[in-house]
Amino acid sequence: MKLLEIENLKKSFEDLDVLHDISLGVEEGEVVAIIGPSGSGKSTLLRCCTGLEQADSGTIHYEGSYGLVFQNFNLFPHYSVLKNIMDAPISVQKQSKKEAEKEARRLLEKMGLGDKADVYPCQLSGGQQQRVAIARALALKPSILFFDEPTSALDPELTGEILKVIRELAEEKMTMVIVTHEMSFARDVADRVIFMDGGYIIEQGDPKEVIEHPKEERTRQFLARFM
Ligand code: ADP
Ligand code: MG
Repeated sequence: MKLLEIENLKKSFEDLDVLHDISLGVEEGEVVAIIGPSGSGKSTLLRCCTGLEQADSGTIHYEGSYGLVFQNFNLFPHYSVLKNIMDAPISVQKQSKKEAEKEARRLLEKMGLGDKADVYPCQLSGGQQQRVAIARALALKPSILFFDEPTSALDPELTGEILKVIRELAEEKMTMVIVTHEMSFARDVADRVIFMDGGYIIEQGDPKEVIEHPKEERTRQFLARFM
């Protein structure tokens, strides 16, 4: 079953065409990695998918709901870790405080942050903040989770802890769309890799095929930078 179906999505900013006729379906349980150079429209695609930008034309259809994890965590600095996670389930989904807190504590344990419930984001490392952000997204029980370069703002030694969490979610069959520059992670964890350039999907398919044996010259040129 498809959880997300995007058809003929177009988006421009003034006279800059950022997305040209993007069509894309995501199956339940599928992990899709989106790669491509800076400015190719990856974030705009995710922002259109999650309602942060309005597409100019095309359709986006979901089964269920979605969550988004940003590059820069975007936690509320004046809320404790626990309140960051509990806030939307209570205010948006009208969960009871007791139920929301129980789930928030469960997710913090799962993220290896069981002892951080009462601290503030500024007291955490970037990697810990990003794990809180992932817990916050999961607390809304999304059917599909989007990540926009979840490790790009982190020091290299903290990247691994986030990739490990995402890898575990993949093993649990969480449906995910991940924009990333971590090529070996994309190759090992994703079910499908999509290469975008200039607002187009240039090439997509099996991660090993796309990353190790790209068919298109533009994909080859992009990947050469990572070798
Ligand atoms: P990527 O995430 O692949 O680096 P983006 O989707 O962020 O690419 O950006 C694609 C293009 O759209 C870039 O040229 C960027 O400058 C432009 N862009 C993105 N957001 C806006 C905006 N809000 N207003 C104007 N231009 C934008
Ligand atoms: Mg981006």
